[in-house]
Amino acid sequence: MDYELPYLSASRIKCYLSCPQKFKLQYVLKTPWAFQPSAMVLGIAVHEAIEVYYKTWMDGRRLSLSDMHDVFEESWRTETDGKRLDVDDPEPAKNMGKDLVATFHDQVRPQNVMAIEYDFRVPLLFKDSGEVLGVDLVGRIDLIEADNAGNIVIADSKTMARRPSEQDLAIDLQLSAYAYAARQLGIVHADETVLLRIDALMKTKTPAFIQLFTTRTPDSDTQFVRLAADIIHAVVSGAFPANPGWQCGGCVVGDTCYLKNS
Ligand code: SF4
Repeated sequence: MDYELPYLSASRIKCYLSCPQKFKLQYVLKTPWAFQPSAMVLGIAVHEAIEVYYKTWMDGRRLSLSDMHDVFEESWRTETDGKRLDVDDPEPAKNMGKDLVATFHDQVRPQNVMAIEYDFRVPLLFKDSGEVLGVDLVGRIDLIEADNAGNIVIADSKTMARRPSEQDLAIDLQLSAYAYAARQLGIVHADETVLLRIDALMKTKTPAFIQLFTTRTPDSDTQFVRLAADIIHAVVSGAFPANPGWQCGGCVVGDTCYLKNS
């Protein structure tokens, strides 16, 4: 059976690589989730508070911590209303989220903010040969800033439990997708190296806000499109093997996985 793929995104690529069967259940069959992961709810609520902070900053004001917490609370309510969480007591996760928002508010130093939550849809293609894959790359860039020297920095905001290594940053697919899109959209010249940053709120005992830099050369676009091409080929061919492993523990569609139902 062949499957259509309406578009690709960094999270879809990561999902396919972690478990093709999960990709099928989630994106092809659109299986309802059995529960909401509290870490995901926390991440969304923190993200929304940060988004409103930057939007307010672009309007020339600095959002108060109390207003940021209101955004966090509202988002938490929306994400959990009528849904089952993966924990009996969500309060520790919620309190951690509010602490992370406070840490961000205390430590962030915005530079020249050019765009926030920048939606994109660009064709996936090999620049050298001109071959077009026929499936677009879709995503949303969290933040585009210019530093004091005028360099454009493209940033991804995340909540994280562990500090990523240099190698993690070098192969991060979300950042590779941002770099590819930035060149396609002309935010950065096609031949330029893209400067990228992860703005990480660390879910450590004492929460911390760290900014980690990396780059992508134009060659990384070719590698990214090569990977996308392989995944498109696998998906449209109906290749969805299960990949049992640590990821099964938090699998939101695991109840319908064939490994559990055969
Ligand atoms: S339970 Fe495991 S193998 Fe099955 S879909 Fe989920 S992640 Fe994949």
